[in-house]
Amino acid sequence: MSLLQISEPNFESPVSTHRLAVGIDLGTTNSLVATGCGGRVEILPDLDGEYLLPSVVQYRKGSPPVVGEKAKAAAVADPENTVISVKRLLGKSATEIKNSDTVGRYRLDSSRDEKAPALLTANGSRDPVQVSADILKALIARAEDFLKGKLEGAVITVPAYFNDAQRQQTRDAARLAGLKVLRLLNEPPAAAVAYGLDSKDQGNVVVFDLGGGTFDVSLLSLKKGIFQVLATGGDTALGGDDFDNVLAEWLSLQVFGGKKLDLGEQSKLLHYANQIKHQLSDLESVELSYADWSGRLSHVQFSTLCEDLINRTIKTCRRVLRDASKSVGDIDNIVMVGGATRMPAIRAAVTQYFGKPPLTHIDPDRAVAIGAGVQAEILIGNKAANNFLLLDVNPLSLGIETMGELVEKIIPRNTTIPVARAQEFTTFKDGQTAMKLHVVQGERELVSDCRSLAHFELRGIPPMVAGAAKVRVTFQVDADGLLSVIAEECSTGQTAEIQVKPSYGLDADSIEQMLKLSHEHAHEDMELRALKEAQLEASQLMEAIDAAIEVDGGLLTKEEARVISSAITELKQALDKESSGRIHEQTEKLNKVSSEFAARRMDLHIGKGLRGESIDAVDQSNK
Ligand code: AMP
Repeated sequence: MSLLQISEPNFESPVSTHRLAVGIDLGTTNSLVATGCGGRVEILPDLDGEYLLPSVVQYRKGSPPVVGEKAKAAAVADPENTVISVKRLLGKSATEIKNSDTVGRYRLDSSRDEKAPALLTANGSRDPVQVSADILKALIARAEDFLKGKLEGAVITVPAYFNDAQRQQTRDAARLAGLKVLRLLNEPPAAAVAYGLDSKDQGNVVVFDLGGGTFDVSLLSLKKGIFQVLATGGDTALGGDDFDNVLAEWLSLQVFGGKKLDLGEQSKLLHYANQIKHQLSDLESVELSYADWSGRLSHVQFSTLCEDLINRTIKTCRRVLRDASKSVGDIDNIVMVGGATRMPAIRAAVTQYFGKPPLTHIDPDRAVAIGAGVQAEILIGNKAANNFLLLDVNPLSLGIETMGELVEKIIPRNTTIPVARAQEFTTFKDGQTAMKLHVVQGERELVSDCRSLAHFELRGIPPMVAGAAKVRVTFQVDADGLLSVIAEECSTGQTAEIQVKPSYGLDADSIEQMLKLSHEHAHEDMELRALKEAQLEASQLMEAIDAAIEVDGGLLTKEEARVISSAITELKQALDKESSGRIHEQTEKLNKVSSEFAARRMDLHIGKGLRGESIDAVDQSNK
């Protein structure tokens, strides 16, 4: 019940004609939608010409949700029914939400499961997926109004640090909004593409992404137009909002002497702090006036208040570089992404650490959406996008186990995705009606040295002689890295299928470790593979000759039987010596001394002159 390879037809994914697709940056604070028009990717405005859609949703009894600017304005007066920064709640349990809710703004629905929390609003309970779906719906409506057509799909960006649950909930939100996800794309490579850094030959790029609620640092290495993520680091609980909080706390102390504030007042103060923070990005100092208090805050004072937060970002950069064994001198470009990188204190700290100023000429709020728009154009197959490059590659080879516990690689490492490849296999034993398929990942030749991804079985193969059945095994990796393996018996169309996420539980370190081991063992692996294949061939031939002698031994003279038997003994000795060269030689010899026997059997059983075939071929034709 196993497999042998017989041929190698490949095919690539189909390519389509011009279609409507968008890139969506579903941000913590603001969201954007971008699409390709005439080879350029642009951010789409709403009817008022606004590009940023605040990621805020207000729920009112019996009416549709209010999304965007209006909801943001309502957040001050109606904080309990207005959800902000919902991206921070994705994939979180009720306890995690409670713990992260420093302001205490959310009322959790106590009737909900710990693992599926929802917020109580004036219009009933709403979970983070529903809230995110409402934001997506607003973006879809904006795009469809602008493009005057129905969207076929979208690339949605997520922070590099999002875990599987957070990614899944992002997909769920899209499904709920009726949007097909072409791919969830990590934000850092998207930003680098927006900066056109993919057009360079090579280099190392650090993407420093400080959004409203999350912080990501990624070190990308560009080689021949493909970005590879060398290391990532970050903090899912650090962002521009924290700078607001620091400033609001300071203001609260100045204005109210640290007295506990009600929710409405907290919201109002936070809103004010946010405005001041923005002004301090352009001004040396700002006049403050809140309730009946007034004062002044300089940019330098603000930087001092936020020193801990700023230091945390640089510490992360240092760790990322160390993880990738790079020094600041190895970095060619630093790309700033996320609204909070407008803060001069952040830019100064980054410049000081890397010893060169970061790239800031693209609006840091738009870079990720533009990159996502580029990806969407490529994935949907629009021609105008052909000069853009695909970003994602399959990081480790994917294949299946074949006889002898060997790995047959079907999608090699570094193949750009999405991709589909097929290969044909056949049965090993006569009358074999089922096949075990073992999907593996890795660069080594032996199954035991690779990662096991999945096992499944194909049943219902019609009984035939070994090697006669044709089973086509197709590996498809979609744009999001999901692998589908389909096995089809070609004569009956009987199929079996399995889906697996090859990246599950795999981090950059383990990929690196696997690659390192495969380089170290490359030579011995190759020899081992040659040996296993030779052993397999030898035992198949000996089995076939044994079976033939049992049926037609009478066709041999005593001397001929002795010669064959001694060739078998020599082959067995070669097998014991474990040298692939010796085994090949002896297999050849056995084939030669048994060819006359094969010819006689053929004459006897078929009566046709198919001389010169080996015993096992005759054996198969007789069944
Ligand atoms: P994002 O999640 O990328 O939309 O990031 C939004 C964050 O950037 C929020 O915390 C904003 O307050 C912050 N931000 C936007 N513009 C500025 C600015 N001019 N100065 C400082 N922070 C800003």
